[in-house]
Parts: sequence; structure tokens; C-alpha cells
Amino acid sequence: MATAPEPGTAIARCHCGGVEVAATFPSRFCVHCYCWSCRTTHAAGVVTWIGFNRTQVRFVKGEQLLRAYESSRGTVRRFCSACGTRFTFESSHGRWAEEIHLPLALFVTPVDREPAGNSFPAERPGWAPFHAFPE
Ligand SMILES: [Zn+2]
Ligand SMILES: [Zn+2]
Repeated sequence: MATAPEPGTAIARCHCGGVEVAATFPSRFCVHCYCWSCRTTHAAGVVTWIGFNRTQVRFVKGEQLLRAYESSRGTVRRFCSACGTRFTFESSHGRWAEEIHLPLALFVTPVDREPAGNSFPAERPGWAPFHAFPE
């Protein structure tokens, strides 16, 4: 059952539906990330992230289902303990400290922007899909 989002927000949900967030626009960025940590923790060739200020992301349900994994010092990735879906990227470093990044793939309602860049393209395996963006 889709929860109708409030105007100016979008809904993201894990595979089992146990965890759901409402993210309020405007988002800050949307990029494809090819870094080794994203690729291995998500078991994927690329992870597409959309970033919000922490105050713009509200857990509608299931936050207690999330488990945390510190993928590097000060950087925590949370995932659903029921279905394994990777849900958040949160870091205490620099400009990311006030942000929470969510996988674009988890959104079940439209967001306010499309992917517009590639992060860590040098770490991309040759077989992973790639889209070139103008500089
Ligand atoms: Zn789940
Ligand atoms: Zn990454």
C-alpha cells in the first residue's frame, strides 16, 4: 500500500516495507557513487544517492528495525534488520555531517531531481553501468 506523500515530500521504503521515511524537498544533490565502500556494502556496481539535510528526513515507521554498520571511521550505514535493504549513509565528516543520504532506488514516489554527477568514477569497475554528465 502506497502512503500518499504530503506535497513537497517523497516516500522511501525498504524491500519488506518495515522501514519508511518521508523526505522533504528540496534535496541537496543526486549522484551515482562508484566508491568501493558503497559498491561492496550494497553489493552493486553503482549506488545512486539523493542527499537531504537531516532535518528534512523523518522516519514514518520502522526506524527501530535499522541496524548500523560503521563502514569507515565516523561513517555509518544503516540497513533494515528484517530484509537487509541498505537505507542510509550518515557521516560526521565535513559538509556531510548535517546530511543524510538515501538510495534513490528506495523511493516509491517522485523526487525533485535526477542524478547529475558521478562520484569516485575512478573506482568504477569496467562492467558497471556508466553515464557521462557534462562538466
Ligand atoms: Zn526491510
Ligand atoms: Zn560511495
